[in-house]
Amino acid sequence: MQRRHFMKQALGAGLASSLLGCTSQRQPASYHPPYSPVTLPLSLPPLARVEARSDRIVAMNVCTRPFRAMGPRTDVESMGNKTVIHNYGHGGSGWSLSWGAAALAEQQIQAEVNTPVAIVGCGAIGLTTAIACQRAGYQVTIYAKERPPYVRSSYATGIWSPDSRIVTLEHAADYAQTWQWMARLSYLRFQTLLGLAGTPVEWTTMFRLADKPFDDKGGHNIPGEPAYPGFQHQLLSDLTPKARDVPEHLNPFATPHVRQFPLLMFNISAYSQYLLDVFARNGGIIVNRTLSHQDDFKQFDESIIVNCTGYGAKALLNDETITPVRGQTCKLMPQPELQYGLQYFDRHTSFYPRRDGILVQAGAEGDFNNPQANIDPAESVAAVNAIADIMQSMHRV
Ligand SMILES: Cc1cc2nc3c(=O)[nH]c(=O)nc-3n(C[C@H](O)[C@H](O)[C@H](O)COP(=O)(O)OP(=O)(O)OC[C@H]3O[C@@H](n4cnc5c(N)ncnc54)[C@H](O)[C@@H]3O)c2cc1C
Repeated sequence: MQRRHFMKQALGAGLASSLLGCTSQRQPASYHPPYSPVTLPLSLPPLARVEARSDRIVAMNVCTRPFRAMGPRTDVESMGNKTVIHNYGHGGSGWSLSWGAAALAEQQIQAEVNTPVAIVGCGAIGLTTAIACQRAGYQVTIYAKERPPYVRSSYATGIWSPDSRIVTLEHAADYAQTWQWMARLSYLRFQTLLGLAGTPVEWTTMFRLADKPFDDKGGHNIPGEPAYPGFQHQLLSDLTPKARDVPEHLNPFATPHVRQFPLLMFNISAYSQYLLDVFARNGGIIVNRTLSHQDDFKQFDESIIVNCTGYGAKALLNDETITPVRGQTCKLMPQPELQYGLQYFDRHTSFYPRRDGILVQAGAEGDFNNPQANIDPAESVAAVNAIADIMQSMHRV
């Protein structure tokens, strides 16, 4: 009861420093902030080559990021005799921030243990929110139109990207504290998911290639999109491991500017299954249900409902604050010997060595405010061909 009172006050006060205090409450007594390890090797092992050929593409997908300029919607609304807690609009950061977003939603529930709670949505946000509510002692049922592997979350890249299209620079100051709280909580939670069977979460090594020297200002500007804050750089630099610029004599790529950094990666197939299993083991049930109007919330048996419908909230609630940001990915057949990923944004391509297939992301200008969910095969083939060029021009160091 005390905790609820505390949270209520903290939320009322705009989630300021008291929320950060709440993070430390959840940490074990022996907790030390992670070091910022500058422990990257001073030499590079020989890097395996991606077999980047279009005939090795085994899947292509399009996903729509549910972006809101002011950040995700997290308010509580009364609908008839129901309490609806909104938890949607996590842009390009939904997987990364999911545990923090889940905790934020759960802490807004004012109910006794064992109260039935309905979660609408079974993507990254719905599943983690459902598990957080179970851990708090509620009886949880998920209601959803789709479930993994057919939710939008299943088509994401699957990396730690907590400040990707989460808020615009214009709204950054108002959102920074909440973001930091969610990001830190999520980050710690992901460390507890390392080393599990099926490797739902792992660290990998990334190389970022650039034609021009890196801009270390922290924010990022993407042509045709609003400016975004560089929250990770500004607010999490003590937490996430440091990057290093690869010196020329160690650079195996033909590109002059190369940066190396460790990155948390989510093997989405295994990770989704892990979340589904945990939810089921805790007694959770998933019911197929499609809501077509916001009045449908009033039809639930449960009096407390958490709305985790992601991009679906745009149509369901007529929410014009959601901007679609299209993203196309494809998967190449897995190569277990591949132990690194690569980002080359100047060439609109990146790949990640996921266990469920090498995830190739194609970036295209015109993705912002683009609701088209059609697959453009040429886009993915071009991204794969760009990787083939990079591989061909690599040399041993
Ligand atoms: C190309 C791409 C790459 C991305 N990469 C990353 C990444 O690497 N890391 C990261 O952190 N984030 C990434 N994201 C963002 C991330 O995928 C989203 O933020 C996240 O999927 C949002 O999850 P969600 O659970 O809110 O939505 P969804 O996954 O869309 O889930 C919504 C759920 O609600 C249900 N639903 C919707 N409407 C209704 C309705 N009317 N009735 C009943 N049920 C309904 C759906 O069936 C589904 O179960 C990426 C996004 C894209 C497009």
